Amino acid sequence: MKYEPVIGLEVHSQLNTKSKIFCGCSTEFGAAPNAQTCPICLGMPGVLPVLNTEVVAKSIRAALALNCTVSEVSRWARKNYFYPDLPKGYQISQYEQPLAVNGHIDIMVNGQHKRIRIHRIHMEEDAGKNIHGENLGDPAHSYVDLNRTGVPLIEIVSEADMRSSEEAKAYLEKLHSILRYTGVSDCNMEEGSFRADANVSVRPFGQEKFGTKAEVKNVNSFRFIQKAIDYEIERQSDLIDDGGRVIQETRLWDSVKNVTVSMRSKEEANDYRYFPDPDLVPLRVSEAWKNEVAATLPELPDAKIARFQKEYGIPEYDAVQMAEDQQVAHYFEAVVKMGSDPKSATNWIMTDVLRILKERQLEVEQCPVTAAMLHGMLELIKNGTISGKLAKDVFAGMEQTGKDAKTVVAEKGLVQISDTGELEKIVDGVIAANPGNVAEYKSGKVKLMGFFVGQVMQASKGKANPALVNKILKEKLG
Ligand code: ADP
Ligand code: MG
Ligand code: ZN
Repeated sequence: MKYEPVIGLEVHSQLNTKSKIFCGCSTEFGAAPNAQTCPICLGMPGVLPVLNTEVVAKSIRAALALNCTVSEVSRWARKNYFYPDLPKGYQISQYEQPLAVNGHIDIMVNGQHKRIRIHRIHMEEDAGKNIHGENLGDPAHSYVDLNRTGVPLIEIVSEADMRSSEEAKAYLEKLHSILRYTGVSDCNMEEGSFRADANVSVRPFGQEKFGTKAEVKNVNSFRFIQKAIDYEIERQSDLIDDGGRVIQETRLWDSVKNVTVSMRSKEEANDYRYFPDPDLVPLRVSEAWKNEVAATLPELPDAKIARFQKEYGIPEYDAVQMAEDQQVAHYFEAVVKMGSDPKSATNWIMTDVLRILKERQLEVEQCPVTAAMLHGMLELIKNGTISGKLAKDVFAGMEQTGKDAKTVVAEKGLVQISDTGELEKIVDGVIAANPGNVAEYKSGKVKLMGFFVGQVMQASKGKANPALVNKILKEKLG
């Protein structure tokens, strides 16, 4: 690769307050179109916005969790543009004096740690939604739903510190994780409560000055964002190689064709004519308020990752997996507190438990295999009732039936055979059935041990105790 990618991300996250930012309308998702509106969020003449304190409290909470400095004074500004889903003709946002600045998020990519700086966090109201008639079998009309108008958002703007799509993905995942921990947003990407815009440019390696950036808007999954960034890096590199020049523009990701397409160039872009909103006084956040919010923050992912490594002796990779989701972390600790070995627990959670959650789109609280059930199974492995191999079947049985490990073992007859007499019989059978291999083994081809063990496991339907099988085979084969 000849060029170095430079990436900065802007994330809009919807705060989960009950009511909107400047009126009392509900923010509940999925209501009938325009059912949740009033003269204020409809932008009627003469109305006045009243700031929802809870929005500010939640924004401070997010800002502190993201290591930002919360400004003592911040200001509201009008961002002016014309669009059918914005009846006032302007969006109330923050411009010159945002709520918070100078934060950071620490990420890990391929075992490497990196700090990504956060430039600013500001609060703003969301616009409504235009629904094009084609999608409703009515191409002659367009529809406007203003339920979302005035729903509170925070915008989190990173510095252009990322140098690959993997770093961008890691940043977004970490940001998502931290915001979920703080409880200020459900961060549901499908419902649009966590939306990312990616600013991408490339420059020759060694060059200090950034190249011209393109901005890819509103991509709604981590995987697509990574693909969109990789596409942009390649498009811009090819363009420069061919003697062309990247132009500053806004592009959209087409997830069917896997390409970005130009939406508007910067020349045609809006001039928002920002100015301080005369309807709202400057916002003052006292030291006492900040401290009050800080005191209620939970243990955040980085602190948990460090504690899990120290307290349970698990590798960093495992700790990261356990800490990404607060409830998964809780599940892991529950299993360990019941007495299971921490590393055995993470092995099963990282593979089988997280797989179930992903496949079935469940939260860990809804997992059919509860922490107690996993602990129960790990106990059966520890005391030799089942082998690690049988455990896979036992786990599948727990997942399918919701019954605990002991019950599954009893019902399916999955108990490990550790009876020496019984095992000797099976071993004798295998030896008798394979005289050729036995002769070869005795003449020095000891690698065949694996073959014999495999045969015994097969004959016992996976139930033979592997350690005992090895021992008996060695004895019998001499
Ligand atoms: P705009 O005014 O176009 O919105 P900003 O200066 O506000 O641009 O930056 C928006 C985002 O783009 C920030 O995350 C910033 O780090 C990032 N950014 C700025 N310049 C570049 C660049 N040349 N390449 C990549 N990202 C950039
Ligand atoms: Mg911007
Ligand atoms: Zn309203």
